This record gives sequence, structure tokens and C-alpha cells, in this order.
Amino acid sequence: MSNENKTIYEFDFNFICEYFASVERQGPGSPETTIKALSFIDNLTNESRIADLGCGTGGQTMVLAQNAPGQVTGLDLFPDFVHIFNRNAGQLGLQNRVKGIVGSMDNLPFGKESLNLIWSEGAIYNIGFERGLNEWKQYLKKGGYIAVSEASWFTDERPDEINDFWMENYPRIDTIPNKVAQMQQAGYVPVATFIIPENCWTEHFYAPCHKAQEEFLKKYPGNQTAEELIAGQRREERLYHAYKDFYGYVFYIGKKQ
Ligand code: SAH
Repeated sequence: MSNENKTIYEFDFNFICEYFASVERQGPGSPETTIKALSFIDNLTNESRIADLGCGTGGQTMVLAQNAPGQVTGLDLFPDFVHIFNRNAGQLGLQNRVKGIVGSMDNLPFGKESLNLIWSEGAIYNIGFERGLNEWKQYLKKGGYIAVSEASWFTDERPDEINDFWMENYPRIDTIPNKVAQMQQAGYVPVATFIIPENCWTEHFYAPCHKAQEEFLKKYPGNQTAEELIAGQRREERLYHAYKDFYGYVFYIGKKQ
């Protein structure tokens, strides 16, 4: 990559981070959904080790920590998100149990068989569902759990427009039974699967984004990168409203055998 391209890339990258850092969640979900997923997991104690991979600014991590015992490490690639994460943990008085660290989910800094629970909401797609399940398993203790939310098809067939969108953006999207089979093949017992409700997208993700989008465009008037970023976000939201019967996020919870 030439230096010129690198500068442009970093410029875009900073924009993306700034925009997403301004909203509480970086993907669809809700406190109720996090708590529901947690209800399928047992045997956690004060000694438990929990990792939240691709934690973003930690909306779901704080809910997790407030509803489960143990030490929680949030890991994200973007230092700005981790900075906000640690600030949030401190504001909630959770700093002794909850720590955000910068790292990549394809090279985890945890010991083998050291974790009781791996959590990841709307983030495993960054390395792919199957690869994440297979690679992360080594860090879980026997009998430990994994809980991830992942984009999934609800039907075997769907309109071209939404099919094309996902093929361009995340071709590994698959149906729920296929994802469950992948989880079992990776060596987990599929404990539970549920579709996250619509309000996780509308009320908890898109609504706060609307305000952030307007403020972002006001801050960078006429800036092409900012305008393209927001136009892309708005397109995704339009597609969601048009095709929500065909896809969504699904929580998959598995237990390592
Ligand atoms: N779990 C959060 C954020 C989801 S958005 C929520 O539900 O709100 C996806 C997150 O994955 C972003 O915060 C992004 O910075 C992070 N990410 C992307 N690639 C990553 C990688 N290789 N390793 C760790 N985190 C990554």
C-alpha cells in the first residue's frame, strides 16, 4: 500500500471510529437480549473468567458484568472504543471486575483453557462464524460456554436485493440450521438459539444512530467520506425495514464438550 493510500485509509478509518464511538451500541442488541442469552449459561462464579470479543464501547459488556459474577475482559481492535469502554466501566464502578484491552480476535492473548465464557455480540463476522468458533474453543475450559450473535437467514429463499447485499458484505451469512450444524461440528453442544427481537434493531440501534448521523453530517458539512459513510448506514437501515422477514441476528449459545 502506498503512503498516499495509507493516509486516505487512516482518514476513513478515523471517521468510522468517530461515528460509531458516538453511539452506545455498535450493532443491534439490547440489555434484555444479553440477559436472555446469559440465562442459558450456568456454573459461573466469582472466579470465572469471561471474555467479550469485539466489545466495542461495551454497551453489552456492562450488562453482562452487572448480571454475571467473575472477571470480564473486553477486547476490541480499535483503541478509541477501548478507551470509552474503560471510562464507562469506571463510571459504573465496575473497574475492578471489567477491563477493556486492545487486541485482535484472530490472535487472542488468553491462556489455553483459561476462560469459562466467551461472549461476542455482532462481531464474530469479522473473522467469520465458523473460524471464530473453531479457533476460540482452545481458550475455553471444558464445559465452558460460547455465546455469539450472528447475521442469519430466516428462510431458504429471499429477494435478490437483500441476497445481493449480503453476498457483497458477508457471504458467510447462512440459515439457522446450518449455523447450528457448524457450531456442533466445531465441538460444542448447541444449547440454545434465538432470534433477537426487532426492537434490538429499531429502538436500540437505529434510533440512537439517527441523532448521531445528523450530528456527524453537521460537523463535517460537504465532506464526501462522512456523507458516504452515513449514506451506507441509511441504506442498511432501509434494507432492514424492507427485508426483516428474511434475515436478522440470531444468538447462538454452545457448550464446549
Ligand atoms: N459488541 C459490540 C460491537 C459490535 S460492532 C456491540 O454489540 O455493540 C463490531 C466490533 O468488532 C467493533 O467494535 C470493531 O471494532 C470490532 N472488531 C473488528 N475487527 C476486530 C478484530 N479483528 N478483533 C477485535 N475486534 C474487532
